Amino acid sequence: MLYDIIIPRKRINKKRIILVIIAIISLVGLSIITAISLVNKNNWKKYAIQVENKYNAIQEYKKVEKLKEQERDKIIKMENAEYISKIKNIYNSNEKRVFLTFDDGPSQSVTPLILDLLKKENIKATFFMLGNRVEANPDIVKRIYNEGHTLGNHGYSHKYKEIYLCSQTILDEYNKTEQCIKDALENQDFSTRLFRFPGGSSGGYYDSIKQEGRKLLEENGVGYVDWNALSNDAAGANTKEALLENLKNTIGEKQSVVILMHDAGDKILTYEILPDLIVFLREKGYNFRAISDIL
Ligand SMILES: [Zn+2]
Repeated sequence: MLYDIIIPRKRINKKRIILVIIAIISLVGLSIITAISLVNKNNWKKYAIQVENKYNAIQEYKKVEKLKEQERDKIIKMENAEYISKIKNIYNSNEKRVFLTFDDGPSQSVTPLILDLLKKENIKATFFMLGNRVEANPDIVKRIYNEGHTLGNHGYSHKYKEIYLCSQTILDEYNKTEQCIKDALENQDFSTRLFRFPGGSSGGYYDSIKQEGRKLLEENGVGYVDWNALSNDAAGANTKEALLENLKNTIGEKQSVVILMHDAGDKILTYEILPDLIVFLREKGYNFRAISDIL
């Protein structure tokens, strides 16, 4: 009896034990799976937060950069406006002053003579150079720069049909000549930001294109200067007396004078009248200035 009873009990116990073990294993397994999934879930959450933070940081960075860019544009625009208004005011001055300006060079035959004389007289002038002349005479460009004169840009070709095709061709010739000057000076950071329109910035057959060109140059931070006195050495006058007479007549009693002259290869008379012109201007009480002095 006893034996009979004990045996089934033992079997029942074994089964129970197995069931309990299975239950325990299942519970442990389930716990492990749950724990792993919780950890994973947390990791994903953390990862998602990290991604979101990074995205927000990038957005914030972009926003700040855009603001900085807008601020830079604003400053550049303000500086340009200030710079251009200084150039536009060149004819208004309390000081009695004169700007000697030489166009269409540099040339081997005339420019060095003018530079020698200016050096001797301790006068700084302004040279509006042609890109094709700059390419041909880089050493003279360097000399003009090293001796403290202002370098200006007079376009590349000086051919009205090419430069005044449209406003963009004016800017293109300005840019092309700027590059010639940078190369001549071996200084890629140099910029004149100063243009003289061949034939003047207004009037004539190309007046409306020049008007658009003036606007386009100024939008690009480039000022332009004409003149209010001239010797007429480019057309008509071919004696020293005639050149000096034209100069005296156009200078008149002006307070701030910008004199147009030329230092192209055939303008030896311009060099020859310079000593007399300098004496005349000194007697009238003018101070000699280069354009960069007022910028
Ligand atoms: Zn010219």
